[in-house]
Amino acid sequence: MTQIQIPSPLRQYSGKQASVEVPAKTVGEALAGLVTQHPELKRHLYSDEGKLRAFVNVYVNDEDMRYLQKEATALKDGDTISIVPSIAGGSTLTETAPAAQPALSNDEILRYSRHLIMPEVGMEGQQKLKAAKVLCIGAGGLGSPLALYLTAAGVGTLGIVDFDVVDYTNLQRQIIHTTADVGRKKLDSAGEKLKAINPFLNLRTFDTRLTSANALELFREFDIVADGTDNFPTRYLVNDACVITGKPNVYGSIFRFEGQASVFATEDGPCYRCLYPEPPPPGLVPSCAEGGVLGILPGLVGVIQATETIKLILGQGDSLIGRLLLVDALGMKFRELKLRKNPDCPVCGTHRTITKLIDYDQFCGIRGVEAAPATGGGLSEISVEEFKKKLDNKEDIFILDVREPHEYQICNLNGYLIPLGDLPKRVGELDSSREIVAHCKMGGRSAKAVAFLQQAGFTKVHNLAGGVTAWAERIDPKMPKY
Ligand code: ZN
Repeated sequence: MTQIQIPSPLRQYSGKQASVEVPAKTVGEALAGLVTQHPELKRHLYSDEGKLRAFVNVYVNDEDMRYLQKEATALKDGDTISIVPSIAGGSTLTETAPAAQPALSNDEILRYSRHLIMPEVGMEGQQKLKAAKVLCIGAGGLGSPLALYLTAAGVGTLGIVDFDVVDYTNLQRQIIHTTADVGRKKLDSAGEKLKAINPFLNLRTFDTRLTSANALELFREFDIVADGTDNFPTRYLVNDACVITGKPNVYGSIFRFEGQASVFATEDGPCYRCLYPEPPPPGLVPSCAEGGVLGILPGLVGVIQATETIKLILGQGDSLIGRLLLVDALGMKFRELKLRKNPDCPVCGTHRTITKLIDYDQFCGIRGVEAAPATGGGLSEISVEEFKKKLDNKEDIFILDVREPHEYQICNLNGYLIPLGDLPKRVGELDSSREIVAHCKMGGRSAKAVAFLQQAGFTKVHNLAGGVTAWAERIDPKMPKY
């Protein structure tokens, strides 16, 4: 028997199972057996033409099957297959001659004494840290531990790119911000903490969204880029800009209780696109705002990124270049998979097709992180105010809630619960002659539900714009928001 490990974003299609056993002689047979047992997985793993989708990587034990015999790879009893989808994430530093390294003051020598007495750091290493310029993308979940530890460790110049303000729901994990910071610019809040930890820090803040227009110029001023982003367009942008400017990309990503970390885009190492040439289709992989994230997980992964950054600066240890570290906080398991530079990679391979930055929102087919889909395209929308009026008028409306049961427990509108993923097989429970208002948390999932129902022939179905969040904000302030 072969065990197939199912990653958490796909477990909703495998009957919530983390691993599935199938009898198989080859990888292709094993995957076919898997989708026979769990037919809903099929469209997530395979394209309409029956090809494995490009954002899904399949490993046999710790080897990428693309470097074995692909789907023809033979299996032995007890082999483990891992499906590793992309999740919503070197010693090539210019060596400065020792003479050019900045000297440490007596105060700095005392502050960094626990580093200075370690042979792996020492005075030379601490001077390298002081000379180093690290750019951190985002001051959120991953950016918090990254910035805090790099600052404390004595990284001389830290840049932070962020345009967001601190939100109450950030505090569960973004430990650089406090309750009193809610509503402030993340850059102001983070900057204050970092300067308090280490007044020697040269902090450079960039109050902007990272874009194709500014990324190259920004990256050229730094030695290393640490990616703390939470969305695919920015992740591909960071990767491509790192490859083009020749800066290592210290990568981390998180989802629920699982994380990934690696170091990409060094001179000889693979890049993020070697691993995932294309992003998943929009909506297939939920973001942390939709799927949730364990509060400590960005701490765990961000500290791994900080560690890798420091090692790159010091030129010490075995870097995660060429390795993808998988962190499972629930099982408290760390596994690693080998990564290879893909000669056909569009950005770092031998025949490069991407030599300048592109439109990443378009490339990923989405408008950004968490925005509810724009109206139009025949999708009927209703505002929470109109909806309230209809309810007050006692109109016959069937309320369809397409969120998950645990979300329903937090707050609900007494709707009929069918989670979006179950809708195709439970559509028979709905009466197409009635007027239906579908809702979710923000309006994104319910828009998909409405589109699906319209395709299925429902004509009187509307999407509640803004979901229960808009209801709580504009109609019922007593309803909890999450
Ligand atoms: Zn590449």
